[in-house]
Amino acid sequence: MSENVYLEEFTIGRGEREGLLNQKGIVIWFTGLSGSGKSTIANALEKELHKRGKLTYVLDGDNLRLSLNSDLKFTEEDRKENLRRVGEVSKILVNLGVITLCTFVSPIRQDREETRKLLGNDYKEVYVNCPFSECEKRDPKNLYKRARNGEIKNFTGLDSPYEAPVSPEITIDTTNTTVEEAVERIINTLNL
Ligand code: ADP
Repeated sequence: MSENVYLEEFTIGRGEREGLLNQKGIVIWFTGLSGSGKSTIANALEKELHKRGKLTYVLDGDNLRLSLNSDLKFTEEDRKENLRRVGEVSKILVNLGVITLCTFVSPIRQDREETRKLLGNDYKEVYVNCPFSECEKRDPKNLYKRARNGEIKNFTGLDSPYEAPVSPEITIDTTNTTVEEAVERIINTLNL
């Protein structure tokens, strides 16, 4: 933490921005195994919200690891730092009044709780629940195959843990819920 740095106060705040947009900022945090359906559902949700005139933004695990977080690996410490940065970026977006969709495996409960603490009531967790065996069958990015071959280390569900949420705002089981149903559930539950 730097010394001699003080928080500056500005006149235009979140309320003014939300007024301009005619919407409330919120962070919808999708957690689940790779291939469970986080990006697919977030993409469909964003399309629907955009159609309804809402300003949205998706922070995606893979995309951010190619940019802001390209210096980070998949060790426990780097995963933590990955999520800390994402939390801070989400905080900026939510203060802009944006409906922010975050798609991160985010396997460690404590790390998600840190994000919840940072964002408070703006943080809404969606647990995209799908069994490991089904995710492995889908394997949309060929990651499971590569992890099984030993090409990827610290792969969640294989040689790195996934700690399921205890009390998420929403749970979606993608083995028995369609993408459209998931979108409708999220919009209705969170009053978007
Ligand atoms: P993640 O972002 O969690 O890694 P993806 O969204 O990239 O997962 O991949 C999920 C895969 O599962 C996609 O190929 C998608 O088409 C498929 N899928 C099948 N059924 C569903 C469903 N009900 N909800 C979401 N995805 C589903």
